[in-house]
Amino acid sequence: MEIPVSLGVRSYTIVVGDGALATVGERLRALGVGARAALVSDPTILRLHGKAVTASLDAAGFAVTTIEVPEGEAAKTLPVAERLWDRFLEAGLDRTSTVLALGGGAVGDVAGFAAATFMRGMNVVQLPTTVLGQVDAAIGGKTAIDHPSAKNLVGAFHQPRLVVADLATLQTLPERDFRSGLAEVVKHGAVLDADYFAEVERDVVPLGARDVRTLERIIGGSCRLKASVIERDEREAELRHVLNYGHTLGHAIEAATGYARLTHGEAVSLGIVAEARLAVRLGISDRATAARQERLLAEVGLPISAAGVDAAAVLAAMAHDKKARDGRVPFVLAPRIGTFRLVYDVPAAEVRAALAELAA
Ligand code: NAD
Repeated sequence: MEIPVSLGVRSYTIVVGDGALATVGERLRALGVGARAALVSDPTILRLHGKAVTASLDAAGFAVTTIEVPEGEAAKTLPVAERLWDRFLEAGLDRTSTVLALGGGAVGDVAGFAAATFMRGMNVVQLPTTVLGQVDAAIGGKTAIDHPSAKNLVGAFHQPRLVVADLATLQTLPERDFRSGLAEVVKHGAVLDADYFAEVERDVVPLGARDVRTLERIIGGSCRLKASVIERDEREAELRHVLNYGHTLGHAIEAATGYARLTHGEAVSLGIVAEARLAVRLGISDRATAARQERLLAEVGLPISAAGVDAAAVLAAMAHDKKARDGRVPFVLAPRIGTFRLVYDVPAAEVRAALAELAA
């Protein structure tokens, strides 16, 4: 399946398919980029899926340097970005060269950031290997490293030239990571497309079993939804906020729990539950709409309740939200499945009450 992302001169294609990594070389050659390339990944992913990429690039005549970064969030630091720039220089990369980011959102973010800044920007190709990477992080051009005070604080918008989401890579993903990524799938349906939400409800069993045909439809459907938002609001002026559904509270819950207890997707799941209940409290939505989202999150194996979430710490973390405008944090709320509304100035007492319901 090929999904176009129309952004004028920055347009690109998202390829979703089983075994799609084998086509990377020929697709890159068709883009007419320079012959030098760097493959950035972590040791685990390289061992599992690196060969498919290097073989494809070799066959297409590219000179490839492979660069390892640490696993997970540890990759998103300035010293790692600096090491990438050093290795790009040693390999003789120039502005026509291409960085290929093979991995989850962490690899994609740091490799994308290094590519965005090296010589003021070189080509980047995203090769996402997690559900979150395929339906979210690899699409849209947001790149970042972390700052000691906050995640993703330093970064750049830098659209990829190509995204190749190989469904075969999802077969090796640990169960908890697989399920965590599905929070973004539920999010896309909940605020953007009621039919898609119903499709996920219907296919929840084969989806959980990672059936390839189901993955292609659901991952592809999610990519299409995210692409349609990016096309209309590339740089997060307003509409792109919709992708933050479940994340205003989700991010804050993640921060308040020290990024240790919950995965990002698990925190987003709790964020969706709390924001759905917040919408009911504010009279924007109804109980049935909130219950339907909770049911689907539970069915895909995500948490819908959590004891001991410190509401004061969550509210304090919300104050650092990057989407804040003049200190006011916008909430995306879902009046009905498949629709959204941006709401500013939600009373703290209502947020506190919605968070308290999470413990129930
Ligand atoms: P991750 O990149 O941290 O990877 C999680 C783990 O999965 C790693 O240990 C990795 O080695 C392993 N892994 C990855 N693919 C695998 C595979 N196919 N088989 C076996 N193991 C595999 O996790 P993630 O959830 O993909 O990404 C989280 C990051 O994404 C965060 O840093 C977040 O800030 C970022 N993010 C960025 C955007 C964006 O728009 N740029 C959007 C959402 C999230």
